[in-house]
Amino acid sequence: MRVDVVTIFPPMFEGVISQAMIRIAREKGLLEVALTDLRDYTLDRHRTVDDRPFGGGPGMVLKAEPVVKAVRELRTRLPDPPGRVLLLCPQGRVFSQEYARELSREPRLILLCARYEGYDERIVELLKPERVSIGDYVLTGGELPAMVVLDAVTRLLPGVLGDEASAVCESFSPENEGLLEYPQYTRPAEFEGLKVPDVLLGGDHAKIEAWRRAQSVERTRASRPDLFEKGRGSGGAGRGA
Ligand code: SAM
Repeated sequence: MRVDVVTIFPPMFEGVISQAMIRIAREKGLLEVALTDLRDYTLDRHRTVDDRPFGGGPGMVLKAEPVVKAVRELRTRLPDPPGRVLLLCPQGRVFSQEYARELSREPRLILLCARYEGYDERIVELLKPERVSIGDYVLTGGELPAMVVLDAVTRLLPGVLGDEASAVCESFSPENEGLLEYPQYTRPAEFEGLKVPDVLLGGDHAKIEAWRRAQSVERTRASRPDLFEKGRGSGGAGRGA
């Protein structure tokens, strides 16, 4: 997968893409990340990317010209595949594990990070991006949301995680019926008087599976009743509970 990020703060991404899983994915040749400085697509000597909103109101608005020009240039330079364009925006489709999985099947993504009070709506009319929100709160810019999307998608690319099953069987995944994951323990078997549940030490895999499933159901019912009900409605989570 190739991911192009269009931002006025390319250095914000440098730590994220040069460490841990994203670094490994890049080193394995499974992911290419290219950072585009939006200011390189401005026309004035101050490299201006924002202006005051027509109609008045607080703050500034991201201008359409540099964004449209940057995306068109990225596509002309590398036309195949053209890439699915995502505009990070609190008003967009809410990002989820299902959405991440959908994006992980794409050969190319172009992530547009807005700033200020928002962006000129003609960016949407001209580039027809999908608006993606990472949740119902407002951040200062699209950079952190773009990193969230990049991280969630990268770990789903085949070959990135050593153990493929770990991305498949975790919280929210269809293989896990949309449930939250069960509790995990590691050594020592007793810590500050707290013991690991006996079932996990017994080696009976059928019993371990049953215990984990019951824990997943209970955990989901307690902390995410919305997911629990959704799973029940589709015949999955909480079946028979
Ligand atoms: N005035 C806008 C509104 O009320 O919808 C919010 C603008 S916000 C301060 C600036 C930029 O940060 C947004 O255009 C978007 O790129 C990014 N952003 C902020 N919160 C976000 C979220 N929850 N999800 C995705 N992007 C977000």
